[in-house]
Order: sequence, then structure tokens, then C-alpha cells
Amino acid sequence: MDFKLCAIASGSSGNCTFLQAGSKMFLIDVGISGKKAVQGLSELGIDPYDIQGIFITHEHIDHIRGVGIFSRKHNTPIYATQKTWHKILTEKMIGDVKEENIKHLDKETNLEMDELTIFPYTIYHDAIDPVGYAFFYQNKKITIATDIGVVDEWIISHLKGSHGILLEFNHDINMLEAGGYPYYLKKRILSDVGHLNNEAAAKALTDIYHTDMQWAILGHLSKDNNVPDLAYLTAKMALEEKDIMIGRDIKVSVAKRDCVSEVHFI
Ligand SMILES: [Zn+2]
Ligand SMILES: [Zn+2]
Repeated sequence: MDFKLCAIASGSSGNCTFLQAGSKMFLIDVGISGKKAVQGLSELGIDPYDIQGIFITHEHIDHIRGVGIFSRKHNTPIYATQKTWHKILTEKMIGDVKEENIKHLDKETNLEMDELTIFPYTIYHDAIDPVGYAFFYQNKKITIATDIGVVDEWIISHLKGSHGILLEFNHDINMLEAGGYPYYLKKRILSDVGHLNNEAAAKALTDIYHTDMQWAILGHLSKDNNVPDLAYLTAKMALEEKDIMIGRDIKVSVAKRDCVSEVHFI
């Protein structure tokens, strides 16, 4: 096993992903309470003190809710870009953080940790300095791609080559348009700095598929504007159109919103 990944929570109300590369263990975002994150880890048999770092994608509450408390309790380093740190600290969004646990990331620059390489890439989202992450270990690549307003060649170039991916399938456009969200919120979600709809995400998945890609986890589903079966079917249909069969060529699963999902390995 090179990589192990598990969504502890995934959706508009809270995101937290566990990632292991070799013997190193991390969290990507803690957008749930510190307690829930610890509970999720214990279901996975992981001691929270063994988490070597938390990688922040952006400062929205569904990504940072429990970061401060988790870090204070377990003395965990937190990695974020300079601008994201500035916003989080000046607006006191996660409480006090020990100086030694404030770790700055440079976008589009590799962060090397022994044999593991972490690459934060710019995404389009209405936060101060949002990033997705690609993790490289033993010639394998795992990508975290959520909270993406739009997929263009830039985004595709960073998703390509993934052996496993956590990809945003936020909403179904029809459900969003017909639903009860206020106009400004619909506009925000649909904008180029909002969230990825099922069709756009499914197209991205078919665009980046290669025969060494083992799995895709559909994540960050909206509670009100999506249902897991619809996200899954949209992905399935788009893949089948290109003769890529789930089960035969790739494994596809939908991350659960508020409990621990299936563990994926590479
Ligand atoms: Zn966000
Ligand atoms: Zn989010």
C-alpha cells in the first residue's frame, strides 16, 4: 500500500479527509468539530496524535470549523497559504494557534516531506486563496479537488495522472435552479467561483481518466441540491459514453456527508 484515503465527512456542511502516504498521516481540512474528527479517526483505528499535519484548502467554515481545536489538543501543524493564514489569523477564525504549528505553503510549489511531495494548486472559488492538493508518493498520485467553480485546462492539467481522486460533485443544476435557495446563493453556487455541478464534474472525470486510474470518490455533495444516486449515475453515464465501465475499469463511490466513508487504497 502506498496511499490510503478516507473521507471522514464530505459535503457542504463539513469536510474532513484522512490521507496516509507510507507511514505519514494527514488530514485535509477539519470542517467538522474537533470531536467528530477524533471520532472518525478512531473508527479508522488512528490515534489523532499521529496526524502529522492538517492541510487547509480554504477558509470557509465547512473546511476549518474544527482545525484550531484539533491542532491545540494534539499539537498538530497546520499548512495553508500565506494569504489564507493572514485571513484566518486576523479574523480570529480558528482561535489561537501555536507559532510552531503555523506552516506556510507556497502555491504551485512542491512541498517535500521525505519521499512524499505535496503540491497545492490554485482553484477557482470565492475564498481568499483557495487550493486543491496533489500528493505524490512512490510514483502514485492522489488528488483532492473540491470547491471548484469551473474546470478549465489549468484544473484538468492538475487532475491528470491521478491514480485516485476525491472530486467535487456538488449539485444537480436542475435541482439547484428549482430549489428554494435565495437567488444570490443560487447565483454564487453556479458562478465560476462557486461549486462544480454533476455534469461538469462527470465530464472532468472522463477527461482525466487513464487506465492506471483506480478510483474516484464523488464528494462535497450538496445536502439540498443533490442526491448520491444522481451524482453516481451522472458519472456512470459519462464514463460509459467513453466505454469506461465502473467495476471493470474504475471504482466509483460517493462520499458520505456526515459519517466515515469507505477506505480507499492505492
Ligand atoms: Zn468553500
Ligand atoms: Zn466547501
